[in-house]
Amino acid sequence: MQGIILKALSGFYYVDRGDGVPVACRARGKFRHQKLNPLVGDRVDYTLLADGAGVLDGILPRKNEFQRPAVANIDQLVVIASGAVPVTDPFLIDRVVSLAEGRDCQCVVCINKYDLDTAQALYETYQKAGFPTLRVSAETGVGIAELAGRIAGKVSAFTGNSGVGKSSILNALEPGFHLQTGQVSDKLGRGRHTTRHVELFRLKNGAIVADTPGFSSFDTDRMELRRPEELQYTFREFAPYLNRCRFTGCAHIKEKGCAVLQAVADGAIAPSRHASYVRLYEQAKEVPEWELK
Ligand code: GDP
Ligand code: ZN
Repeated sequence: MQGIILKALSGFYYVDRGDGVPVACRARGKFRHQKLNPLVGDRVDYTLLADGAGVLDGILPRKNEFQRPAVANIDQLVVIASGAVPVTDPFLIDRVVSLAEGRDCQCVVCINKYDLDTAQALYETYQKAGFPTLRVSAETGVGIAELAGRIAGKVSAFTGNSGVGKSSILNALEPGFHLQTGQVSDKLGRGRHTTRHVELFRLKNGAIVADTPGFSSFDTDRMELRRPEELQYTFREFAPYLNRCRFTGCAHIKEKGCAVLQAVADGAIAPSRHASYVRLYEQAKEVPEWELK
């Protein structure tokens, strides 16, 4: 049989069957021998035993994989932002989006607290860059149905700076959700800070969601860093300009005759997006070659 690993805890992998009652599976010995490490989000083959427990037989090929948190097969990152306090720094959005680009993982920018602040500038920046961009209010319910439609049938990870309203949105999507997540964090509680716990939840509309604790969770793990020259491809709206720079190998930072910089000057690329690119480029330059995959 096949299913998705929703949670991994104490040597058990909890595999979703679509009925809300996950099967607790152990991995076969071959997993250890072959150094196969099942991840939350993995699609797996398993055998159901007579006692109701299961055994993992194998892992299906992954479409993508993140290190922190350790999770596989994320279809979509829902980046929650806010124009009201705590106001989201666009760099945090761009960093996480850059990480997802090119990994077969869509990004949706979801601006919450629309009842308090329209976040017009933030909205236009991501809309113009080509991302599905929503404005919602967990408080009034505005836009929540549209968000529900966006996540239906997919595996989505929610990320965003603390206080932006992730828990509130998940609760607006599915009342009672907070209870589930609350229980999990209580159980892990103190002394487990070194483990980044990820768990997937199946909502009633079939959507599967992961709540990841803050932007730092989808972070610049060493294995996920990119070479400086690869970063330009992770800013989707740069694409039409990349071959038009005067010099081949242009870094698009301050070169004369740079088509990307011209596009920023012309208003076709948002200055904040370019500033994030420059910041990530400078960071990437600091990483020695041997640390890159
Ligand atoms: P999290 O840290 O991202 O999970 O944020 P929470 O869901 O805990 O929300 C942080 C605070 O913002 C809480 O006091 C919420 O009541 C409030 N909040 C969340 N969403 C909205 C919203 O859409 N409008 C307003 N006015 N307040 C909100
Ligand atoms: Zn250039």
